[in-house]
Amino acid sequence: MRWNGQTLDSETPSTLPGLARLNNLVRSVQTPEFAGMTFHEVLAKSALNHVSGASTMMPFAWTINPYRGCSHACVYCFARPTHTYLELDAGKDFDQQIIVKVNVGEVLEREVAKKSWQHPSVALGTNTDPYQRAEGRYALMPSIIRALAGSGTPFSILTKGSLMRRDLDLIAEASQVVPVSLAMSIAVYDDELQQSIEPGTPTTKARLATVTAVREKGLDCQVFLMPILPFLTDTTEHLDHALGLAAAAGASSVVYSALHLKPGVKQWFMAWLSREHPQLVSAYARLYAKGTYAPVEYREWLAARMKPIVRKHGLNRGRPSGVTGGVAPPGRADTLAVPSFGPVGDSQPMLF
Ligand code: SF4
Repeated sequence: MRWNGQTLDSETPSTLPGLARLNNLVRSVQTPEFAGMTFHEVLAKSALNHVSGASTMMPFAWTINPYRGCSHACVYCFARPTHTYLELDAGKDFDQQIIVKVNVGEVLEREVAKKSWQHPSVALGTNTDPYQRAEGRYALMPSIIRALAGSGTPFSILTKGSLMRRDLDLIAEASQVVPVSLAMSIAVYDDELQQSIEPGTPTTKARLATVTAVREKGLDCQVFLMPILPFLTDTTEHLDHALGLAAAAGASSVVYSALHLKPGVKQWFMAWLSREHPQLVSAYARLYAKGTYAPVEYREWLAARMKPIVRKHGLNRGRPSGVTGGVAPPGRADTLAVPSFGPVGDSQPMLF
């Protein structure tokens, strides 16, 4: 099995009290290549998660998350609170204590072979990133892609990981037999800010190069310009620069939304803001005083600002795909005629 025979430098039965509750924990691993991180390898009982309330907002009813927690460590990550279920915290633990479903490919193969599996679309990257750093060690995605394509299951992948390039031949092969949607999330086009707010991610340049690599394989690649950070990345200059680079990289369409700050994320984000941009704390406190979303006035203002920039760069307007659960290019038959969709917990993004 995949997790046998790996070289380990330290192995601990359980490094955190909450993990003792996991009766499927194989071991917890730390290695010098991933300094500061611990991988908790578990045997998953199921690979496919059913998402209740699939809709035009979330055009997928099924997801796969090979990892829980994400070393990309985006300060604004909406999935942070999901990490508290094992007494892990939504801050540093989310970034550094990664649950790895080491048998996810084998379990998935059994699940999609069942007669009851009707081959609805499956979305990857809706909760945590399937091409985060751990994937370089565990290589779980190839078996997932093979199982989905082999069973005739359409799928979508949303990632910030340039590691997806490793699997592009396989993904291109899969796209010959099932509909596939790919999207690269690239929100910040200022290197200093990007390293500060997404410290574990590949650079913007590396992600743009991944978009180009996808296009060179003959596949579409959407760019998710999400989240747009009020007062930090919402200037005309930044947005114009961003969409210019996305278009030049070959993006098929762009999807954007303003920052959301739900409980459990807001505290982590505001602590970062106080450290890095203290002059903006009161402005953010006002903007997000009423809850998770920026006020509708802000979102309307942003939409008005974005529209001519999107047009200027000749970017297509993406649409939710009823077939893959991702974003389909304009005119494709599987496109749903609805105005908006977003990942889990990410309501009201706008599509262009
Ligand atoms: S890449 Fe996605 S899942 Fe990972 S930390 Fe960033 S926002 Fe969260």
